[in-house]
Amino acid sequence: MKIVFHKRYYNSSYAMDPAAAPGRLEGIVDILSKNKEYVFIEPKPAIKEDILRAHTERHFEYIERNPLLLELASLAAGGAILAAEEAYDGNPTFAVIRPPGHHASADSCWGFCYFNNISVSLLKLFSEGKIKSAFVLDFDLHTGDGNINILSFKEESFRVKILNPDSSGRTGYIKEVKNYMEELDNIDIFVASAGFDQGIDDWGHLLYPEDYDDLGLLMKEYSEKLCEGRRYALLEGGYNHDALPKNVNSFCTGFK
Ligand SMILES: [Zn+2]
Repeated sequence: MKIVFHKRYYNSSYAMDPAAAPGRLEGIVDILSKNKEYVFIEPKPAIKEDILRAHTERHFEYIERNPLLLELASLAAGGAILAAEEAYDGNPTFAVIRPPGHHASADSCWGFCYFNNISVSLLKLFSEGKIKSAFVLDFDLHTGDGNINILSFKEESFRVKILNPDSSGRTGYIKEVKNYMEELDNIDIFVASAGFDQGIDDWGHLLYPEDYDDLGLLMKEYSEKLCEGRRYALLEGGYNHDALPKNVNSFCTGFK
């Protein structure tokens, strides 16, 4: 499995929010780099043309006013593109990127997000004629309104199904995901908005590390069934720095 990462993602000066907090990514990189099965690869920033498939010129100019934010948000979107390309080529990929993206809509953003990483990456593959459909599993605590706003209405010929599970118990949560995947057909690629703030030791107090392992495994099993295993996942939320590495590692164990 590939891990997308760039040392510039450690920079925490681009914003004052919990996603930008210093030290948030270090533990994730530490734990994943101990696994010799994981190959780290470094992304390039997304170019403006890639970003404008998901966003308005006005939104791009708004981000551009802060050069550091533009650099890092473009690098996160570039990390998403690299992960999508790897997945398309048959390599399952997890992207340890920051800032997150699922609350970024075409012309606005909130919730610690700036560019919609998932949308930029999927729309690039779509524009190159590589995919015509996608399934997005957003298991972040918060609903990815940006994913929904952009991907549900973007192109008539690009079909995107998005699941934000909302079961209140952990067993029901996993079952909800499995049941939804069971009904899927004609999907060209699987992607996860992988937020870990639903963790038992994080804001949502719901999912245990074993549950993240199960979510990863479901992504693997159903992508193998439906689209030759093409799958990738992008880091979204997750704010307990002690719990985050373990949860990411568990997800990757099932997902790889
Ligand atoms: Zn969240």
